[in-house]
Amino acid sequence: MNGLLDTLRAAVGAAQLLTEGDLTAYELDWRRRWRGRALAVVRPGSTAEVAAVVRACAAAGVAIVPQGGNTGLVGGGVPDASGSQVLLSLQRLNRIRTIDAANLTLSCEAGCVLQAVQQAAAEQGLLFPLSLAAEGSCTIGGNLAANAGGTQVLRFGNARELCLGLEVVTASGEVWDGLSGLRKDNTGYDLRDLFVGSEGTLGIITAATLKLFPQPAAVTTALAACSSLDDCVALLNLARTRLGAGLTGFEVMGRFALDLVARHFPALPQPLPGAPWTVLLEQSDTDGEAAAQERFEAVLGAALEAGCVADAAIASSLAQSQTMWQLRESIPLAQAEEGLNIKHDIALPVSAIPGFVAATDAALAAAIPGVRLVCFGHLGDGNLHYNVQAPAGEDAKRFLAKQEPGVNRIVYDAVVACGGSISAEHGIGQLKREELAERKSPVALAMMRAIKAALDPQNLLNPGRVI
Ligand code: FAD
Repeated sequence: MNGLLDTLRAAVGAAQLLTEGDLTAYELDWRRRWRGRALAVVRPGSTAEVAAVVRACAAAGVAIVPQGGNTGLVGGGVPDASGSQVLLSLQRLNRIRTIDAANLTLSCEAGCVLQAVQQAAAEQGLLFPLSLAAEGSCTIGGNLAANAGGTQVLRFGNARELCLGLEVVTASGEVWDGLSGLRKDNTGYDLRDLFVGSEGTLGIITAATLKLFPQPAAVTTALAACSSLDDCVALLNLARTRLGAGLTGFEVMGRFALDLVARHFPALPQPLPGAPWTVLLEQSDTDGEAAAQERFEAVLGAALEAGCVADAAIASSLAQSQTMWQLRESIPLAQAEEGLNIKHDIALPVSAIPGFVAATDAALAAAIPGVRLVCFGHLGDGNLHYNVQAPAGEDAKRFLAKQEPGVNRIVYDAVVACGGSISAEHGIGQLKREELAERKSPVALAMMRAIKAALDPQNLLNPGRVI
C-alpha cells in the first residue's frame, strides 16, 4: 500500500493526504451511527487531481468512498471498518466557475457548499432553490449524488430537476465533460441522470451546471394548526387550488416532533402550542408584498371557514418567517439530541398518508408499548420522515439493536401496501441496501447491476452501497 500512498501524495501534495491524527470528521457519519476506518483521506483540489487519484486507486485495486459535506443520513459517505478504502473528500473543489444570468445557469465545482451556491446566485438577483436544513455544510456533489429533495421540491423539483449538466471522473479515471447548460438535448441515453442519485457508486461528480430562477418579489410564511392529518391534506388541496405554482413549501410537523424541539431548543417560540399537527406553508410571489400577504390571508381564512384549520399565524417580518422555518429545521437536530432512532424517509401518495400513519402508529404501539413516534416532513411532496424513538428512559442504542428489523418490517410493509417507496430523498447507502434487494423488482435490480458492472467493472466506487 505504501506505493499507492506515495502516488496519491504526489498527485495531491503531502498536506492533502491524511493517514494519521484525528480523522473522525471523515470517518464518522452525521448521525454518529456508522464509524469506519480509512486507509487514507485524500483531498484533491482540482478535477485533474481527482482523476489522478482514481487512476492510482484503480491500478492498485483499492476502493474509493467519495465524500462531500458528510451530512448524508444513510451511511453512504463514510468508509467501512476494514481500513482498506480511500476516502476521497471533494471539499477543496469549491469554486463557482461561471454564472450565466441570461441562460439562468450556474456552473460550480462539486465541493461547493449549497449555501455558498445559493448566495452566489442571490448576488446576481437570482435564485437557486434547493434548500435543506444541512445547507450550511452539504455540498452540491453530495446533493446530486444523493438526489436531495428538501423544502422546495413542490415547486422546483429535487436536485435532479435542478441539474442541467455534470462533469464526472469515471471509474477508470477519465474525465467526462457533460457540463451542458442546455434545457433540451436529446442525443442518446441521458448519462447525467445515471450519475444523479447514484450515491458515488458509478462515478465521481466533480462539477455541475445548475438551473437558476428569478428571485420572487415576495415570500410569505405561515403556520397553521390542524387537528388531524386529513385536515392537513384538505389544507394542501385548498392552498394548491388557490395559490397554484405560488405554493413553494408545505411542511407538516407532528406534536411529538415539536415537543422534542421544545425540550432541546426551549428558546425557540412555538406560536401554536398544543396543535396535534402544525403545517408550515410558504408562498413565493411575483407580485409585491401586499398582494402576497392578502392572498395568503384569504387562503387561511377559507381554511378556517372550511374547518380544516383551527388556528393560524402569518409571519409579519423576515425574522418571524425565519423563526418558523427554524422550528421545522430544528426537528432533525432535536432528534439527534434525544438519541438514535429508527429512521424512515418514505414517499407515499398524499391521499394515502392519513391512513398509513393511523394504521402504522397503531401497529407499532401494539408491538412496542410506550414507543414514541416522530412524524414530520414534506407533505406537499408525499414525503414523510416517520421515525421511531425508544420509549422514554430506554437506552437508544439497545432499542435500535433489538427493535430495528421488526419496526422496519411493520413500516415498510405498510409503505409498500400503500404503493409507496422506502426511500424518498435520503437514498439507500448502507442503511437500506438489504431492504432494496428485498423490495425492488428483480428486473429493476438486474438492470441496476448491469449498469454498475458496465461503469465500474472492478467494483471500486463506493462498494457495498446501494446494490
Ligand atoms: P455526503 O454525506 O458527503 O455524501 C452523500 C452520498 O453522496 C454518499 O454516498 C457519498 O459517497 C456520495 N457523494 C458525495 N459527494 C460526491 C461526489 N462529488 N461524487 C459522487 N458521489 C458523492 N436530505 C434531503 O434530501 N432533504 C432534506 O430535507 C434533508 N435534510 C437534512 C437535514 C439535516 C439536519 C441533515 C444532517 C441532513 C439532511 N439531509 C436531507 C441529508 C443530506 O444533507 C443530503 O443527502 C445531502 O445531499 C448530502 O450532501 P453531502 O455533501 O453532505 O454528501
